[in-house]
Amino acid sequence: MAVYLCHEFPDLYEHDAEVVAAQPGRVVLDRSAFHPGGGGQVSDAGWLEHGGGVVPIVGVETVDGDVWHVLGEDVEPSGPVLVRVDADHRSRVAQLHTDSHVLNALVYGRFPGTLVTGAQINADSTGRMDFDLSAIDNDVLRGLDAGVNDVIGQAIDVRSVYVDADDAGTTAGLVRSLSVAPPPTPDGRLRVIDIDGVDRQACGGTHLSNTGQSRPFRITKVENKGKRNRRIRFALD
Ligand SMILES: [Zn+2]
Repeated sequence: MAVYLCHEFPDLYEHDAEVVAAQPGRVVLDRSAFHPGGGGQVSDAGWLEHGGGVVPIVGVETVDGDVWHVLGEDVEPSGPVLVRVDADHRSRVAQLHTDSHVLNALVYGRFPGTLVTGAQINADSTGRMDFDLSAIDNDVLRGLDAGVNDVIGQAIDVRSVYVDADDAGTTAGLVRSLSVAPPPTPDGRLRVIDIDGVDRQACGGTHLSNTGQSRPFRITKVENKGKRNRRIRFALD
């Protein structure tokens, strides 16, 4: 069982909730479909409809286990509210995030054992991944977007499955990236994202259900970051 509501119900974009704690400009809710972000993935965005009006939810901060929804205004809502997730924002992040799995798989396949040393998915349809790679021609990396677009064109199913965390630790390549840290499940299982025949790795982020839902993917820049690290910047076309 997933801890995140957005993992259990990926199509839930609007629901009732109750404010359980409030401070000026932020609230804790009894339930929320918002993805809190993490590991470089920006959180969901959206709106909170409360007794006093509608206020944007601009971010999520987890403090001592409490998930605070950060509001765009210094209001202090209470009681029953309506939570709305920005579906366009969710979609942009899920597209880039899913594409970054494919990019990661292509790099890993071509240069076996390569580790991801950082990743970031932004709200503005851009992102980056850092790889521990040396002595690789940057033009080779720059050309990898053709492979990502090929996988998008093949419209491959993306599934989330739960595996035993002990088994996951012994499966080569399964836990290789530092992307979105999967949330723990009550029974100690690990959430794995399986892009059929392309990539399989532990991840707690938001993804598409089919690669064909992504807009075209473009690598915009490859930079050297230190002796070993390459930073690949990318965007949705
Ligand atoms: Zn992921």
